[in-house]
Amino acid sequence: MNAEIISVGTELLLGTTVDSNAAFLGRVLAECGIGCTNRQTVGDNLDRLTAAIELAFKRAEIVVTIGGLGPTLDDLTRDGIARALDDPLILDLELEGEIREIFATRNLKWVESNARQAMRPTCGEAIENRNGTAPGLICRKNGKVLIALPGPPREFQPMVSGPVRQLLATLGNAVIYSRVLRVCGLGESRVEELVRDLMDGENPTVAPYAKTMEVHLRVTARAETTDDAANLIQPVAKEIRRRLDWRVFGTDETTLEAAVIHKLRKCGLTISASESCTGGLLGGRLTSVPGSSESFVGAVIAYTDAVKVQFLGVLPTTLDAESAVSEAVAKEMAEGTRKKFATDFAISITGVAGPGDDDRGNPEGLVYIGLATAEGTTVTKHQFGKGRESIRNRATQAALTLLWERLQN
Ligand code: AMP
Ligand code: MG
Repeated sequence: MNAEIISVGTELLLGTTVDSNAAFLGRVLAECGIGCTNRQTVGDNLDRLTAAIELAFKRAEIVVTIGGLGPTLDDLTRDGIARALDDPLILDLELEGEIREIFATRNLKWVESNARQAMRPTCGEAIENRNGTAPGLICRKNGKVLIALPGPPREFQPMVSGPVRQLLATLGNAVIYSRVLRVCGLGESRVEELVRDLMDGENPTVAPYAKTMEVHLRVTARAETTDDAANLIQPVAKEIRRRLDWRVFGTDETTLEAAVIHKLRKCGLTISASESCTGGLLGGRLTSVPGSSESFVGAVIAYTDAVKVQFLGVLPTTLDAESAVSEAVAKEMAEGTRKKFATDFAISITGVAGPGDDDRGNPEGLVYIGLATAEGTTVTKHQFGKGRESIRNRATQAALTLLWERLQN
C-alpha cells in the first residue's frame, strides 16, 4: 500500500506557513507500514486541486489531503474531492446538526456558510473533530481510499493520532520502526566511513543525519510487528556501537547533556563550570536535565576579566601576558572553579564569539575549553568558524563531548 499526501493552501506555497502537518503525517504513515511515495502542495484553487487528487490516485491507493475543509470560500477541498472522484456533494443533515450543536454550546453565532462543512461526497463518511468544527472525511471508491483532514495543527494532530492512525494501521501490512543512535565526537563523513557497509543493507536501513556537532544514525526496519522490527534492528545497532564505541552516547531522544548527567550520577561525581563566551549555555543545558542537582553544583558566568580574577582567581599577569582567550587562562579558570565549588570536575570555556576578532587579535571562533580533575587539568583548543550563535552552541557541545569522553574511564 502506498500513500500520497496533498497539502492544500496558498500560504504553504508562499512559505508563510511551514507544512508541519505533512511531516507529522509522514511519520505516522511510516509507523503504520505505509510508504509515502509522493507529496504535492497546491494553492486554494479548484482546478489545480482537482488535478492534484486525480494525479495522486494514479500513483497511490491512499490519498490524504490536508487543509481546505473550513467554511470560507477559499476552502475548496470538498469540491475538489467531489470532482476528482466524480461523486456529487450532498448536505449531510446529521452532520449539520452536530456542527450547529458545537456553535450552540460555545455560544457562537451561526453563520450560514458553516453548513458547507456538513457537505460530503455520497461515498464519504465523517471523522469527528473534537477540537474544531470541520469534520474530516473518509471516502472509499474503486478500492481506493481518500482521507481529508483539517489544516489547523491542533485539530489535525489529534485526528491523525486517533481515528486516522487506527484506519491506517488496518490498511498497512507491516510496521516501519526506527531507532536513532546518537553520536558525538565524530563528523558525519567519518561516521559514514565507519559504517558505510551497513548503509547498503535494505532491512534494516541505516541513514546518517548531521546535527550540530552530533550525528544521528537512524536504523529502520520493516516487519510484521514492532517486536520483529526491533529484532532486525538489534544486531545492526550492536555492530554500530561496537565500531563507534563511546561516541554513541544515547538512543532516540536522549540528549548529550542527559547522557552526561546520568553518567555523573551513576559514578557519584560532581561538576561545576565557568563560562565566558557561552554565558551560561552549558549550565542551561545541564540544568535542563531533571535531577541534575545531584551532580551539577553551580557555575560562574565569568564574562569580564575582572570576574575571572575576582571569582576564579585567574592571575592578572596571565590575562595581560596571554589574553583572556588562551590556554593558560582556560586552565586557571578550570582550576579556580574546581577549588571554589569543591567538585570532582570543573569545566571552563573561554573564546571569541564575535562578530569579528577580539581586541587582542584572537580570531572569531577560537575557543579554549579546560577540564580540571583530581588528576590534573587538560585544555583543548578549538576553531568553530564564524557566527555568534553557532560558535556558542558548538563550544557548549564540545564541552559536553569532552566531559562525556572523560567519563568513559
Ligand atoms: P485550513 O484548514 O486550510 O482552513 O487551514 C487553517 C490553518 O491551518 C491555516 O491558516 C494554517 O495556519 C494551518 N495549516 C493549514 N495547512 C497546514 C499544514 N499543512 N501544516 C501546518 N499548518 C497548516
Ligand atoms: Mg486553507
